[in-house]
Amino acid sequence: RYGFDMSKPADPLSVLKSVYGYAAFRGKQQAVVEQVVAGGDAVVLFPTGAGKSLCYQVPALCRPGVALVVSPLIALMRDQVEALKQLGVSAAALNSTLSREEYGAIRRGLDDATLDLLYVTPERMATAGFREMMAHVKIALIAIDEAHCVSQWGHDFRPEYRALDALKDIFPGVPRMALTATADPHTREDIIERLALQDAAVFTTSFDRPNITYEIIERDQPRRQLLDFLTRHKGDSGIVYCLSRAKVEETAEWLNGQGIRALPYHAGMDRERRDANQDAFLKEEELCLVATVAFGMGIDKPNVRYVAHLDLPGSVEAYYQETGRAGRDGLPSEAWMVYGMADVVQRGRMIDNGNAVEEIKRVERAKLNALLGICETSGCRRQAILAHFGEAHPGGCGNCDTCLKPVETWDGTEAAIKAMAAIYRTGERFGAGHLIDVLTGKETERTERFGHAQMPVFGAGSDLPVKTWQSVYRQLLAAGLITVDHEAYGALKLMPEARAVFRKEKTVRFRKDRPTRGGSSGSARR
Ligand code: ADP
Ligand code: ZN
Repeated sequence: RYGFDMSKPADPLSVLKSVYGYAAFRGKQQAVVEQVVAGGDAVVLFPTGAGKSLCYQVPALCRPGVALVVSPLIALMRDQVEALKQLGVSAAALNSTLSREEYGAIRRGLDDATLDLLYVTPERMATAGFREMMAHVKIALIAIDEAHCVSQWGHDFRPEYRALDALKDIFPGVPRMALTATADPHTREDIIERLALQDAAVFTTSFDRPNITYEIIERDQPRRQLLDFLTRHKGDSGIVYCLSRAKVEETAEWLNGQGIRALPYHAGMDRERRDANQDAFLKEEELCLVATVAFGMGIDKPNVRYVAHLDLPGSVEAYYQETGRAGRDGLPSEAWMVYGMADVVQRGRMIDNGNAVEEIKRVERAKLNALLGICETSGCRRQAILAHFGEAHPGGCGNCDTCLKPVETWDGTEAAIKAMAAIYRTGERFGAGHLIDVLTGKETERTERFGHAQMPVFGAGSDLPVKTWQSVYRQLLAAGLITVDHEAYGALKLMPEARAVFRKEKTVRFRKDRPTRGGSSGSARR
């Protein structure tokens, strides 16, 4: 045990060497550390894997007193504390699962100033009991990890983070830091305001993850497509994300049947099985972990070679964070996703059925649309992702699907008019599936019942295949010309912007979808 106390070595570099065994700071780590050691506040916006933990841990060991670290998840705290103890640093986590003895040990560590880092949940941090506990304790700094959780603009808002705005007044003069790997410009502003960090120095590095190859394809036969993808990754470990627990279980079972070793992970599993599967993933060389988003935060496995999405995430931030779990070691890795109109409808329904207030639902819809825009872009995906985070990139990265196999575009003005006319003529009451039946002249029970088979639009689009119409509707949605009405079961509606297209004041270009192998038409409809 080092027992850093009042005699703490003040020099960050010697702490880095003696405690962690690292030769040098990376990137802007040193600048952050110096700012905080000198007593200043800091906002640290580094992508996953850049080394944010050291940014507060090293100052914690350089400044007298205990460092308080706010972290949203108990499991995450546990891992960090364990890692620190391995290094001989005195660290503990204060949470509701503590035994009397553990709690007593923390109190003693605070009283005799031998504790270097104390991890605390945000809800605990704001209590009077905690304040009282800290009344006579010297505090080295306060670090707020996963700081995007404070913002409703972030993709993972946690109301308990809101109480952290009081820290500035409760612990005056103590340097504070906010750290996050995902923050678009709007969220950044919000973090600074909500946490009263107006005087903080802001440290950012590029969010580009050049070793990750991005690929987003239209969902056709998802299991086949996944299997094709995984055959490129024999011998690798990776994550397959699904939206629902049931789908996680089914997919893992199916993969095992196909000779691919896969394990499930979701919050509905019992703790033991979940931990066992996580441990297997961390240890084994060739394992596919099929998971809901419950898996990932704080997981530090450097050689994750791929992240596959079978369902669309809810925002660009979520997509970026989830795909960012690939390739922390800097070696080539793949982010791969299948998606279709059904995802957009499903995600939209989740937003509408959620219990957020209307203002937030609007934000969530906008976030979903931003991701849809990235899915439907005919330009460089990396450029589009980075642009979302306010970062300029010249494009043409050469390491995303649209750069590697440039997509062709076509003048879709006529098709757009037909597709939107079908929406208009049928009263803005139907989803893409039925509208495509109408356009392609497919007689069904519904086209009969609603008299759509007698309309001029019926069959007006029979020159194009069903798949193209699906693509047209997705791209109209991404372009903001139409919208999904979730209260009307996913009915498509026209936006005011559609008018200019009807009047031919505005032309529309669509990306040409690539032919998918063995593509049976209509499989993505529903
Ligand atoms: P983040 O929280 O930003 O995702 P971590 O703090 O988990 O990143 O660090 C990612 C990995 O990089 C960890 O394994 C960490 O030990 C390592 N690391 C961080 N800083 C350095 C450094 N200066 N030299 C060598 N390795 C480092
Ligand atoms: Zn590119």
